[in-house]
Amino acid sequence: MKRDKNRENFQNAKKVIPGGVNSPVRAFKAVGAEPIFIEKAKGPYLYDSDANKYIDYCLSWGPMILGHANKVVLDDVKKVIDKGTSFGIPTKLETELAKMIVEAIDSVEKVRFVSSGTEAVMTAIRLARGCTGRDKIVKFAGCYHGHVDHMLVEAGSGAMTFGSPSSPGVPKDFTKHTIVLPYNDTESVKKAFDKYGDKIAAVIVEPVAGNMGVVLPKTGFLKAIRQHCTEKGSLLIFDEVITGFRVKYGSVQDVFGVEADLTCLGKIIGGGFPIGACCGRAEVMDNLSPEGSVYQAGTLSGNPVCVAAGIATLKSLKSQKPYDALARATEELCKSISQSLEEKNIPHSINRIASMFTLFFNPGPVTDYVSSARSDTRLYARYFTGMLKAGIYLPPSQFEACFISTEHRQKDFDKTIATVRKLVLK
Ligand SMILES: *Cc1c(COP(=O)(O)O)cnc(C)c1O
Repeated sequence: MKRDKNRENFQNAKKVIPGGVNSPVRAFKAVGAEPIFIEKAKGPYLYDSDANKYIDYCLSWGPMILGHANKVVLDDVKKVIDKGTSFGIPTKLETELAKMIVEAIDSVEKVRFVSSGTEAVMTAIRLARGCTGRDKIVKFAGCYHGHVDHMLVEAGSGAMTFGSPSSPGVPKDFTKHTIVLPYNDTESVKKAFDKYGDKIAAVIVEPVAGNMGVVLPKTGFLKAIRQHCTEKGSLLIFDEVITGFRVKYGSVQDVFGVEADLTCLGKIIGGGFPIGACCGRAEVMDNLSPEGSVYQAGTLSGNPVCVAAGIATLKSLKSQKPYDALARATEELCKSISQSLEEKNIPHSINRIASMFTLFFNPGPVTDYVSSARSDTRLYARYFTGMLKAGIYLPPSQFEACFISTEHRQKDFDKTIATVRKLVLK
């Protein structure tokens, strides 16, 4: 496999971009490798600067559920682009996408579009604080909610800790209102509410975690959070930037029988373009300016190109109904990968829901940040680089989710499984 042009591109990038990348995990540092540079992509495949072809299981971190360069999406986007790309004045398209989201998610009556998942979370948190008049936010260790200051917090060693900033540049004063709890620990949620209940503006949670690898909520965990929030008048924010329209058409709220007060979306609803959305019941959402007094704005919010890509993507998902087939394919793939690793006596566990999964090099069960962090990241690095050399692109970190698209075919899975079989990991 050739690497020369990728390497040259990386050298050039590093001269003018910090670390050569515009989002840290892309630098492949976590797997001790150098990044590939992408020239083009089609369906389930990526092509790099050295003309190597890869089966893509990262899919731009989730958005490309219809595969890359989907014709329907691109055709609609091209039509919109020809009419101008940004007006800073409303378009009908925004209403159309908002309506599709409202129809797809029971707990959502209104939608405010922004340009990234980070902004969606920022908006939801400000809104929750604004309408409750409270400051404290509960989050869970291992959940990622974008690079918002008060969400960049590290859990301490105890079961319930006030966060300390996990990055320089975030003042302690910004995170002192963030309470960090272990994921799936219903008891610590109860304790936090017993102690701070009437000060908690909101609990924010990934209803299925995707950013410590895929971690499923234990039975009753989300319901317990819902109950405490309702009792104490705190808002429940579901960060569904990954799970929205990934697990099913709409939200996982139906899957787990829990309604959120606010839902954050992103990734898939932009069909590969920058977007985010903060959504919820009208009574909460109407606190946003100009209707209410909680300030929020954005020059490119609801950008017609992004919104058109989102509409085309959701329309395709709604008519194709690919979710059962995607789930079956993912299940088969995971079973085969697991079998191959068992044959090699490699301790591992796989967490999976719908078309997202993580292979942990750790016997499991992986139920929270601590159990996820026990994974053998050196083994993951070997797995990643071995797969990459064979033309299979996985997330360049153990603690991320793999995704499949509607364009992955059996031959792609067969190649993937055959490669895992052949890999020498020890
Ligand atoms: C990706 C992600 C975000 C941040 O979205 P950006 O568009 O990268 O800002 C927030 N929350 C979750 C759960 C995510 O996976």
